[in-house]
Amino acid sequence: MREKNIPPLLAQEEVSQLLNVPSQRLEEAYWKGTIKNYQKHNLEAIQFRKGLGSVEAGTMVIMGEEIEVIRGFPKIRRTLLLKPALEKHFTGGNVAVEEKMNGYNVRIACIDHRIFAFTRGGYVCPYTTRKANEILDLDLFFQENPDMVICGEMVGTLNPYVSHYYPEVGKLGFRIFDLRKKITNTPLTVMDKRELLEEYGLEPVRLLGIFSVKEAPKKILEIVKDLGYKDREGVVMKDPMMQLEPLKYTSSQAQASELEYALSYPFDLARAFLFSRIIREGFQAYEMAETNDELRERALRMGESIIYPMLGTIKKVKEGEIAAEDLVIEVENQEEAEEFIRHLRDLKVMATLVEIKDGKAVIRRIHQSTNDKVNNYLQGGLY
Ligand code: ATP
Ligand code: MG
Repeated sequence: MREKNIPPLLAQEEVSQLLNVPSQRLEEAYWKGTIKNYQKHNLEAIQFRKGLGSVEAGTMVIMGEEIEVIRGFPKIRRTLLLKPALEKHFTGGNVAVEEKMNGYNVRIACIDHRIFAFTRGGYVCPYTTRKANEILDLDLFFQENPDMVICGEMVGTLNPYVSHYYPEVGKLGFRIFDLRKKITNTPLTVMDKRELLEEYGLEPVRLLGIFSVKEAPKKILEIVKDLGYKDREGVVMKDPMMQLEPLKYTSSQAQASELEYALSYPFDLARAFLFSRIIREGFQAYEMAETNDELRERALRMGESIIYPMLGTIKKVKEGEIAAEDLVIEVENQEEAEEFIRHLRDLKVMATLVEIKDGKAVIRRIHQSTNDKVNNYLQGGLY
């Protein structure tokens, strides 16, 4: 016996047509839990927890005045070696190189005259929604482009998901990397996007150049090296016409800072992070053909980003501190902080409010496994 009924929205033939997925497959996906009912923030919607056919994970189908579809942001694959990968992939002959900003992915859309910010999985994030409305002036853009979804990166230090300092941003800023259509997810070309954003005074990510496939690898290696020195993440390489999938490539320093984070909570995060970052470094070292000194610097950077944070955590736990990270967000009152914590709980992130001071809430996210295991080993537990 099926104990739940299909959500009324999912039962509508129009949804199947808009997504180009047969009703029966949608229904099956619902029973499997791939698709969930989503009723929050006065939205009646269905959320794609996983991809289904060509429909990306993170897609939201929303019951508005009409049925709205905000498609998930497509996954961007990575090159390990630029030269062979670019030659093989960018068959159009040219590569537009944009800076890859290190923050979190946000899709902003207007639904029934309200502006919502969705995070990667298709959740409305109350903090991001509030901040997006504060930082950006979007009314005119959405009045004139109601069928567009603004895809961008929320960056800066007052950032509860990925806190990273950019001198030009400071506490919190938003940089736009794609404008896509509702329903189909069709992106504007690189130049059309930039022109449209310019018209509305909205800030795009930096365009670092458009190169022929032949010259691109060398240029990009230089660019990424330089970004790395400035503690910046890397690049996303795009077909100027946006007909081909974009690719990403990141600096050694970005790899190191992710390792540093993961190894601060070794039993919660390290396993998922380590292998892929090591592989990236190996191939980058090969392609960058570095001097002995540079190579040694890379090796040291990697080693240090593994050992020091882990040692730091072991010492902390030994001192009786808890393995946890503190997120800081701006709030106007206690309720806003609590609302954000409820949102984190929806995402299965355990977090508690530490304090609210000077308009900032400190929220503690505990890394339980790290805490328990490190304590166990400190008491003689065997590995
Ligand atoms: P996923 O690829 O699924 O997003 P991930 O955590 O591995 O997961 P990243 O490695 O950060 O993601 O790379 C992809 C993300 O980079 C995009 O989802 C987007 O949020 C971000 N990004 C930053 N700058 C750009 C840009 N210029 N163009 C496209 N994406 C960008
Ligand atoms: Mg990222």
